[in-house]
Amino acid sequence: MDDLSEERLALVNPILADKVRILSNMLETERIIIRVVQGLRSWNEQQKLYEQGRTTPGKIVTQCPGGHSYHCFGMACDLAPNDPSKPIWTPDWNADHPSWKKIEAAAVSMGLVCGCAFRTFVDAPHAQMTGRCPVNPGEEVRQLFKAGGMEAIWREANF
Ligand SMILES: [Zn+2]
Repeated sequence: MDDLSEERLALVNPILADKVRILSNMLETERIIIRVVQGLRSWNEQQKLYEQGRTTPGKIVTQCPGGHSYHCFGMACDLAPNDPSKPIWTPDWNADHPSWKKIEAAAVSMGLVCGCAFRTFVDAPHAQMTGRCPVNPGEEVRQLFKAGGMEAIWREANF
């Protein structure tokens, strides 16, 4: 994967990072070049994103306030495919393009949870790995984080 994707993968759970690398290789055989467009997000960054379209300008891009997204715990990545008609890597934001469905299918085959998070509005496909934790991080997950950081949740999730 490109350096930007690798920089982002370095900050998420290493098992998730490996799955995304395998996923990327699988898709490359179909000439779909993906990039990790989002990885880890701090609670603050997530909260700012949540406020967008609600109390700040812009459109709504997430249903999750700070601490309510697995991006805040290094357990989620947003992936985007390339637009092959462009000479340099450019994301293809057309959600109807078959590449998106292929990313989703490949992610599911790797045991990643996509579910409702693969939104139909223009947003990168979201792939998360939650193990034994619930599909949406609840109070228990946030408490684990406050007590022991991401590693505490990763241990509990037991991927
Ligand atoms: Zn996401």
